[in-house]
Amino acid sequence: MTCKKYEIEINTLKNFYEIYCKGKHDYAEHKKYNLEYKDEKFTLDLNICKECQENIEYSFDRLQTCPHEIKPRCRTCPSPCYDKPQWKHTAKVMKYSGVRLGLIQAKQKIKNLFS
Ligand SMILES: [Zn+2]
Repeated sequence: MTCKKYEIEINTLKNFYEIYCKGKHDYAEHKKYNLEYKDEKFTLDLNICKECQENIEYSFDRLQTCPHEIKPRCRTCPSPCYDKPQWKHTAKVMKYSGVRLGLIQAKQKIKNLFS
């Protein structure tokens, strides 16, 4: 995948994990990540708990080694690289946060309509 795509992917993970952790856990800590992909460097500030850190690091690793030049959605990937338990957990995080993001966007739309 391109560096741009990689950057979008890590930021999506960040957003989803922060929403999930905020809703589910209550001891988030700040951690700065320095990631590298195809010689480009990315920094990411995360506010999530230890458990979520371990999970997101797993996802960063998988992303790093994703062999697809044009990355498919992990959900529709022909050769999924996640282990089953991690896969299930990540799907749960995405679902939880996706629903909430959808709600926020819907609320903003309504607000925009009336302001
Ligand atoms: Zn957490």
